[in-house]
Amino acid sequence: MDIDSLLGRATERLAQAGSASPRLDAEVLLGHVLGVDRTWLYTWGDRAAPVYERARFEALVAARAEGHPVAYLIGEREFWGLALTTSPQTLIPRPDTETLVEVALELALATRGHFLDLGTGTGAIALAFASERPGWQVTGIDRVEEAVALATANADRLGIANASFLASDWFSALAAECFDVIVANPPYIAESDPHLMLGDVRFEPASALVAGEDGLADLRCLVESAPRHLLPGGWLAMEHGHDQAERVRQLLQAAGYRDIASRHDISGRQRVTLGRMAG
Ligand code: GLN
Repeated sequence: MDIDSLLGRATERLAQAGSASPRLDAEVLLGHVLGVDRTWLYTWGDRAAPVYERARFEALVAARAEGHPVAYLIGEREFWGLALTTSPQTLIPRPDTETLVEVALELALATRGHFLDLGTGTGAIALAFASERPGWQVTGIDRVEEAVALATANADRLGIANASFLASDWFSALAAECFDVIVANPPYIAESDPHLMLGDVRFEPASALVAGEDGLADLRCLVESAPRHLLPGGWLAMEHGHDQAERVRQLLQAAGYRDIASRHDISGRQRVTLGRMAG
């Protein structure tokens, strides 16, 4: 069977299984198995697919049809143009979260400074920022040891030398260290949110997604504890759910932050809220 027909059949199967992007999923999985990019698949569509690779591809398509996220099946996801290794121990980096990187880059105009990413997972936000601001010292922390190892490996593979990672439950391992910018994409989904039963999130670690009855437990904790780790004038910027912006602004206000604002993500939803300490 040639590559075109293989992709056509897989696309049909994934569409029936309910994937929102069946053709793209099939192309990414086949490209991974053959070690080629999607352009190659278009160019060489009439070539026969080798039997061994075809069997591996069919196995991946079957797993995808059961709902397993493509990023876990191929072990990789691109974020901010960086190819990051992923693992089921961490959240899959999402395009929404690039908004948080943009916000941080707009804030951090000095050539040097200290940046902290809380709950770094794959290291996505920390590495994106570090790659854009080589003069900054970037620290990423995660409570999960496997995430720290993964983020460190991602930094090494990408050759990003100004980011380091350590295990810490939020600020617990940081002593009195202070930062110019603190960012976080914490868990923010409410326990009872039906969204948790759909799509990729079913396969992601609940500890990276779920935050108490109202989804605000971790955001609240960050707002309250960040001031002890922010330099004068330092910023805290957090990703949150599309309907949480107002409550996060209220939390920041109650805790004495200034210059509080929210920013939209690529789908036009208020996704990031930030505030700063008095200068
Ligand atoms: N944005 C993710 C989702 O809704 C959740 C990420 C998070 O909880 N930090 O699938």
